[in-house]
Amino acid sequence: MKFAMIGAGAMGLRYGILLQEAGNDVTFIDTWQPHIDKIHEQGGVYVMRDHKDRHLTKIKLETPETFDGHPDMFIFFTKQMQLQDYLDRCQHFFHKDQYAFTAMNGMGHIEKLQKYFADDKIIGATALIATVLPGPGEVDFMGKRGAGKMNMCPLNEKPDATCKELFNQLQKAKMNPTLTDDFTGTLMTKVIFNSVINTICTMFELPMGEFGNFPGAYQMGRQLIDEAYDICARAGIKLVSSRDEEMAALDHNTRIDMPLHYPSMYQDMTKDRPTEVDYINGYIAQLGRKYHYEASTHLFVTQAVHLAEFHRQNL
Ligand code: NAD
Repeated sequence: MKFAMIGAGAMGLRYGILLQEAGNDVTFIDTWQPHIDKIHEQGGVYVMRDHKDRHLTKIKLETPETFDGHPDMFIFFTKQMQLQDYLDRCQHFFHKDQYAFTAMNGMGHIEKLQKYFADDKIIGATALIATVLPGPGEVDFMGKRGAGKMNMCPLNEKPDATCKELFNQLQKAKMNPTLTDDFTGTLMTKVIFNSVINTICTMFELPMGEFGNFPGAYQMGRQLIDEAYDICARAGIKLVSSRDEEMAALDHNTRIDMPLHYPSMYQDMTKDRPTEVDYINGYIAQLGRKYHYEASTHLFVTQAVHLAEFHRQNL
């Protein structure tokens, strides 16, 4: 398939390079000038796996202003707050026959994509795949080849031939995809998962295993999970996992799968970039308000993360 990755950051590079290695035609589109300059200077991106085996991988890199291709599918991997700017700058090469796929964290991106792509051309996903961008021109794929997994579902919940072909290519790229049948439930399940780990590890600046091993982790996580699940029940959202399954997944992910990993929200905060908390805990609280439910814990931790950002800016 022919892909254009919108956003060549940590996840854009991971998906794009693995799809390229699986035999697809991939072009990367980015706007961060130091990253673009470094990739051109080096003749590619330095790729590592768990900080080791640093090697140069050639990629095709364009900006929204220089790209003039016609891919089958755009893959969006920007941060939530960057997406509208990318859409504004890229809209001149979007066409009706093309698909939009994304596994961004948080909520708010789908409504934005719907302004440019028809509902039957949008495929949403969630990824439990950790990747770090240590600096311009280099990326670190955390975990062994084939580590991590993802869920995906078309917005209209009717997988067509292109969606199935994407699934096959992601399988070939060893992203371990599962096709689910409930779009909102799939995305919200991950939002809720992130609303615990990303948020708490970011405000306390902890690797995930340290939170997982804290004796109060269950109680803290359960309070956030219960609020979010109560809201989803009111909103009629069918989540992929039960509350207990979500708690077990949190425990496994933090203590066993990725104990040394810092979530991407932490990485943003420590690089003085804004975090996605308003699109995660903030989104859950906003959804609660719509259904007359005050998500006081999510509201509190949203501000606690903003306080941590504010504190760092004043250091
Ligand atoms: P990223 O920050 O690495 O890249 C996103 C964009 O920001 C790219 O265009 C990149 O070039 C640019 N960028 C990166 N560092 C920058 C800097 N210091 N200054 C200015 N621009 C910079 O983002 P990502 O980790 O690829 O995340 C994309 C989406 O995927 C987000 O919604 C994220 O939550 C989600 N996600 C990330 C991971 C992960 O492990 N990284 C896992 C699952 C989901």
